[in-house]
Amino acid sequence: MSETAKSPLERPRTQPEGSHHIDGAYVADAGGRPLPVIYPADGSTIATLEHAGPDLVEQALAAASRAQPAWAAMTGTERGRILRRAAEIIRERNDELSRLETMDTGKPYQETVVADATSGADALEYFGGLAASITGEHVQLGDDFVYSVRQPLGVCVGIGAWNYPMQIACWKAAPALACGNTMVFKPSETTPLSALKLAEILTEAGLPDGVFNVVQGDGAVGSALVGDPRVAKVSLTGSVPTGRKVYAAAAEGIRHVTMELGGKSPMLIFDDADLDDAVGGAILGNFYSSGQICSNGTRVFVQKGILPAFLDRLAERLGHAVIGDPLDPTTSFGPLVSQAQLDQVLGFVQAGRDEGARLVTGGERLDREGFYMSPAVFADVTDEMTIAREEIFGPVLSVLSFETEEEAIARANATPYGLAAGVFTRDLRRGHRVIGKLDAGSCFINAYNLTPVEAPFGGVKLSGVGRENSRAAIEHYTQLKSVYVGMGPVEAPY
Ligand code: NDP
Repeated sequence: MSETAKSPLERPRTQPEGSHHIDGAYVADAGGRPLPVIYPADGSTIATLEHAGPDLVEQALAAASRAQPAWAAMTGTERGRILRRAAEIIRERNDELSRLETMDTGKPYQETVVADATSGADALEYFGGLAASITGEHVQLGDDFVYSVRQPLGVCVGIGAWNYPMQIACWKAAPALACGNTMVFKPSETTPLSALKLAEILTEAGLPDGVFNVVQGDGAVGSALVGDPRVAKVSLTGSVPTGRKVYAAAAEGIRHVTMELGGKSPMLIFDDADLDDAVGGAILGNFYSSGQICSNGTRVFVQKGILPAFLDRLAERLGHAVIGDPLDPTTSFGPLVSQAQLDQVLGFVQAGRDEGARLVTGGERLDREGFYMSPAVFADVTDEMTIAREEIFGPVLSVLSFETEEEAIARANATPYGLAAGVFTRDLRRGHRVIGKLDAGSCFINAYNLTPVEAPFGGVKLSGVGRENSRAAIEHYTQLKSVYVGMGPVEAPY
């Protein structure tokens, strides 16, 4: 691993005009509890926002309720045009938005410039394109007939995690708005900046006031939103413990939910796999975004025959990671998002050592300012070890070895999670056979962590309910009304 800090890009303006964005405008609340925003690369405060108080939450929900009927009454073509225009603006401003995302999350600019705002733009473009074709069905029953209307749900609440703040906001807002809903979005308090930019850009693109609103704050603000009787749907991206609370709160009002929660996903690498592809997949599935990705394949099952070669090649390629200033475009591995996250991940590294796993490389706190550690690879990991069971959400890869296909499938599925799974093999039949038996929602064969907007994304078991992206998301932001039309006389028994 090499460390650099050569020529960082210019820092963008990080202090927003106001903490919240409600009814088409920035709103400040001088009385709100301060919410400092920390740059993970050096620990400095780059902005200070405020947590929303009850008045702000009320303002946002009232704005979203007010705006919803008129937004739903617009044609899908009109709504879609605004979303697609917003996508264009995001692409025009991608460089500035990516630098902002880098400062908010600590992720290298090299990643944010290709994976964050741009994937948000993809979602706005995709759902903007679909908006005009959201329709019901017609069923002829002799002379009578039934038709169904796909209607919006109403006011939706989106709650985001801190790892992909812009992408998460867009993945929720784009389908919700395309379907004629309005939204109040609460970003993670750790990364509150880019959702405000999304609101600003949507307004510039012509979105009517009140259709997309952003309020800042911690879990208490999220909880106030979820419990409000005006809310028809809640979409959360977060951990399983938070998911349980939010799901339960939403159930009080029988609200629709989408839950994108945590994972402990398996990657199965067979002897016949292309070694470099498999190592590349393991790197993408464990160290991109410093390992802070829900769908990461953190349990890497490697078949015995290929194990020594796999470990050698992995350690060798990790040596080429460039750790440094995330605003330096040559940096490929940045800090973790916060001191708390770093402490938690280092705690897992210690647990791995204590329980007898072999640390092949990394896992050290780096001697520099900011929340940096080196990417860690453990070998000789067994199924019952803490690092093989719990979601770490950091750059820690566990290698487990296996002998037979049946054994690998059984051990891969022995987890309460089911977000993602991957298989590396040159045997086409085995690839499909194995992936068909893995309990996961988002699967990969000879690839990992590619999540285009065209593909449904989401988990099974504790990893969640519902799907984001693709046409599937339309079903999660609409409800069907069916209308039976009688064309003849009404026959009644008396
Ligand atoms: P958390 O579960 O801690 O928080 C998620 C969001 O929920 C935050 O905005 C948080 O607010 C909010 N929140 C917390 N408590 C409540 C509550 N009672 N009611 C309403 N909202 C609440 O997750 P992290 O932000 O730490 O993100 C990491 C987790 O997210 C990991 O488990 C990861 O796997 C998962 N994740 C899942 C993805 C998926 O698509 N399946 C994608 C990305 C991450 P705040 O933190 O501001 O206090």
